[in-house]
Amino acid sequence: MSFPQPDITPLSAPFWEGLKAGQLLYQQCQSCGHRWLPAREACPCCLKRDVAWQPAGGRGRIVSWVIYHVAYNDAFKHRIPYDVTLVELDEGPRLLTNIVNGDAGRKLSLHAPVCLEIGQEGDLAVARFKLI
Ligand SMILES: [Zn+2]
Repeated sequence: MSFPQPDITPLSAPFWEGLKAGQLLYQQCQSCGHRWLPAREACPCCLKRDVAWQPAGGRGRIVSWVIYHVAYNDAFKHRIPYDVTLVELDEGPRLLTNIVNGDAGRKLSLHAPVCLEIGQEGDLAVARFKLI
C-alpha cells in the first residue's frame, strides 16, 4: 500500500511546493504578526486575511509525542513502532511530524532540539525532523 497522500488545495499548495523545493514554510499574519501551521485563510488570532508565507529556519523543539505500535493504515505496517511527534518551530508554529533518528521514541525527550530533514514519500516531500 502506498503512503497516504494529503489533500493539497490552493490554500495548502505553497506548503507542499515549499517542501518540494527544500524549504519549510509557515503562514504569518501581516496585521498582528501571529505565525501558524497548518494553512488557514485567516489569522487564527485576529481573523484578518492579510496572510503571507514565510520560510522557517528549520530548527525547533519537541513538545509532545506518541509511539504507534499498531498500524492503523496498511502503509505503515512496516514502520511500527514509529513516533508521531509535535514539534514547535523556533518561529512558533507547531506541526505533527516524525523524528527520523528517535529510535522509535526511545531517544525522544521533552524540549529536545531538532532540525528539519525533508523526506520523500514517492513524489511527495514531507517535513520530518532529526534530533540534534
Ligand atoms: Zn493576525
